[in-house]
Amino acid sequence: MTDKPITVTSPLLPDLNELNQLLAIIWDSKYITNNGHYHQELEQALASYLKVPYISLFTNGTLPLITALQAAGIKHGEVITTPYSFVATTHSIWWNGLTPVFVDVDPVTCNIDPQQIEQAITDKTVAIMPVHCYGTPCDTVAIQKIADRYHLKVIYDAAHAFGVEQNGISILTAGDFSTLSFHATKVYNTIEGGAIVTHSAEMKQEIDYLKNFGFQNETTVVGPGINSKMDEIRAAYGLLNLKKVDKAIAKRKHVAQKYRLALKDVPGIKMLPEPAGNVRLNYSYFPIFIDKKKYGISRDELYFKLKDHGILGRRYFYPLISSFKTYSSIPSAASSNLPVATELAETVICLPMHHLLDDDDIEKIINAITR
Ligand SMILES: *Cc1c(COP(=O)(O)O)cnc(C)c1O
Repeated sequence: MTDKPITVTSPLLPDLNELNQLLAIIWDSKYITNNGHYHQELEQALASYLKVPYISLFTNGTLPLITALQAAGIKHGEVITTPYSFVATTHSIWWNGLTPVFVDVDPVTCNIDPQQIEQAITDKTVAIMPVHCYGTPCDTVAIQKIADRYHLKVIYDAAHAFGVEQNGISILTAGDFSTLSFHATKVYNTIEGGAIVTHSAEMKQEIDYLKNFGFQNETTVVGPGINSKMDEIRAAYGLLNLKKVDKAIAKRKHVAQKYRLALKDVPGIKMLPEPAGNVRLNYSYFPIFIDKKKYGISRDELYFKLKDHGILGRRYFYPLISSFKTYSSIPSAASSNLPVATELAETVICLPMHHLLDDDDIEKIINAITR
């Protein structure tokens, strides 16, 4: 056990020499933030790479969620969301003074169940905030139908869905807004960073004001904006990482295929299905779900056993957002309302998944699970 542990993720890093060259240019210009050259270049490069019309960069992936709700003009009411996500999804609703309403997820995709969305709608419902969990596309058609019928805004937390496409169309174009995270742990990172994808130049403009204190110009403030601008250094870093991300995704795909093949006949281990149809995935996570009766030991027993072998998985998502103390008193947070999400949270482990895993690492992980 003297080997270095195998971590669940590893950040994609740009070439250091190339980064130094860009840093030298930034130092020379003395323009280090406030919508500078690299900020603008990265917005254009990402819009093109992601096949989206308008994108606005942020300093992390949580402020885009908060700002999207602001840009949607939602002042009060209920937002229907999933408990099976990272806690920032619900936090963004709370930070806007809105009430989160949790509905259960689909047991196969782990995504919010459209039928249950419809059942949870009241006269206070103003928006839906789904998550493309693990990068698997939500049923965006069904969700949009519901949103149109009840005049609701749809804000996708697409933190897991960088580069995900269906039939050649970016999943980030669904709904009114999609938000991204470029945190170090994600498929594509700018160390910390994020973005909002929108459909019109006007809305991008509004978002660009909101992320800069609401300033429209030197003397006009259009609303109670926040400061969530990305700086020039991270934008330059992001430009360099964008050149490497396709290779990293291809490597992740290779890892996923090895896992899938080795684990498909292991009793008591369930994986996500391969998505039907023409979907470009990003292989952001590789969750497995443990059925203790069939596998022999519980999820937690396997999790700690892997840890003993120097394999650091992650119980992601566990605990459910709805079971955190700050949200557990909301009526919809009761686990009886969320049986599927509760079961997923109790049984999931995300296996190590990143571009630096080699075949020896993968074999070691598979052996530890199948032994
Ligand atoms: C990572 C993540 C976020 C938050 O992004 P940060 O960049 O860490 O602020 C939000 N939602 C989901 C689903 C995430 O995975």
